[in-house]
Amino acid sequence: MTDLSTIAAISTPLGTGGVGIIRISGKCATEIADKIFVSVSGKNLADSKGYRAHFGKIFDGENAVDEAVCLVFRAPHSYTGEDVVEINCHGGVFLMKKILRLALQNGAQAAAPGEFTKRAFLNGKLDLSEAESVMTLISAQGEQGANAAFNQLEGRLSKKIEKINSSLLSVAAHIAAWVDYPDDEIEELGENELKNTIINANLEIKKLLSSFDSGMAVTSGVETAIVGKPNVGKSTLMNLLTGYDRSIVTEIEGTTRDVVEETVDLNGCLLRISDTAGMRETGDLVEKLGVERSRKKLERAAIVFAVFDSSKPLSDEDMELIDECKSKNVIPIINKTDLDQILDVDYIKNQLGEPIYISAKNGDGYDLLCDRVSDLLGTKNFDTTSAILINERQRICCQKAESALSDAENALNIGLTPDAIGVCIDDAIAALLELTGQKASEAVVDEVFKQFCVGK
Ligand code: GDP
Repeated sequence: MTDLSTIAAISTPLGTGGVGIIRISGKCATEIADKIFVSVSGKNLADSKGYRAHFGKIFDGENAVDEAVCLVFRAPHSYTGEDVVEINCHGGVFLMKKILRLALQNGAQAAAPGEFTKRAFLNGKLDLSEAESVMTLISAQGEQGANAAFNQLEGRLSKKIEKINSSLLSVAAHIAAWVDYPDDEIEELGENELKNTIINANLEIKKLLSSFDSGMAVTSGVETAIVGKPNVGKSTLMNLLTGYDRSIVTEIEGTTRDVVEETVDLNGCLLRISDTAGMRETGDLVEKLGVERSRKKLERAAIVFAVFDSSKPLSDEDMELIDECKSKNVIPIINKTDLDQILDVDYIKNQLGEPIYISAKNGDGYDLLCDRVSDLLGTKNFDTTSAILINERQRICCQKAESALSDAENALNIGLTPDAIGVCIDDAIAALLELTGQKASEAVVDEVFKQFCVGK
């Protein structure tokens, strides 16, 4: 086990609550806790076994500060794999900060973001992809996302990668032995066996890559922009999707002068929706800035809801919008279907594909829109128990492995020598080991844990 200093942090949110937890992890965890905590039983935490709870009081010198229950965990049977004390005190911001300060004054170091989980990783309690799923699980906003993240924490992805890697490692080892000891009686690997191993491994990786978008949709959310000229009903649609009056709705054009953002759960798909200011030429400086921001949102969005007003003829602004959206993953939305239709829908259909007809005002068409979104993101039959990639880092590692294995397939097809094929397989293995963290550089590991919150 890695020998590091003892760290402490508040592990519950900094707010008023029934209980607040200050976590101390490291070799001196119980000794430090003993300096600020006196149990009613008179027993020292340093003499305690693991998985024990002790009731007592927290002291600042002579003065009792709060009642608390201290949970003791002994290495390696703790979250971090080290000795851990969790002080459960009353959940007040001042109180939690005070108790943390007492722990720091008595020898603990302030924990960096994600340092508890980083230690768990360094102590072999979980691999890098499992550690990342902790963060995804904490920030999950929907049932499917939480389930999927939990299953990755349970090792779905890690096990799949391990399986792919072990098949690659066995052929790589065979090739290496054959190349290194040509005089020995090492049997050359049959071409079919080699080919099958490479093709099967590559297929599995391709499958993981293809589920990336739907995995992201259920765990982290997809950037979505609602665009359209002023007054087509963008804000009304935003409010329908969020379920409350998030955006201001008026008949006055240019009311939404900035981008309004919200995360919504549409049948298990998480959309990070931006209701943009209507795209139009304007002399108003504030509105102009809003329109610029809207354009940027449109550029970055993974999905675009392009909204049109069914009760008005197609205008130049609509045409411009159609041009801007053509290259995007767009869902054309014909709004205000409760009014008489004047709009030339065929033109929109030709340019952007089959539209969804809705009345944002009374909610008609809402289910159709949800269905279209899940079709687009492939989340309809999403299996939360399968192995999925949950972030860009993991995707890039898989992409590298896929490209190395495709090179290996090509090398085999054009009849290159086994050592050339071995190099490609080694590259694929290295990429997969980077994914699980078994061979990730310190910089990569640091970067992963930097994304965490303090106390986790
Ligand atoms: P935005 O400028 O595109 O955000 O449009 P708003 O959402 O502010 O709506 C502009 C006007 O259209 C408001 O008076 C809304 O009540 C009205 N509106 C929006 N959606 C509908 C709809 O589905 N049917 C009808 N009849 N009116 C709508």
